[in-house]
Amino acid sequence: MRLVVDLNRCQGYAQCAFLAPDVFAMHGEESLLYNPHADEAQREQVRRAATACPVQAILVEYPQEAPAAVEEGLSGVR
Ligand code: SF4
Repeated sequence: MRLVVDLNRCQGYAQCAFLAPDVFAMHGEESLLYNPHADEAQREQVRRAATACPVQAILVEYPQEAPAAVEEGLSGVR
């Protein structure tokens, strides 16, 4: 899994750090640190974090699969 956070869009709401603390962490009040190559074991947490981000700044790619929708309700359709 590969993830990218659009830091121009990120407003530092920290929802992601709350939902996936092994992948996202706040550094100071507004800057976000994250692991762009999060482990597969973090997949569900990352999906929830991406869904919860109020400004949709988190993009998740699954290279071995078709592009995955991160919106709630679309996962597990196939
Ligand atoms: S939830 Fe979104 S806006 Fe908030 S820190 Fe994470 S990426 Fe940034």
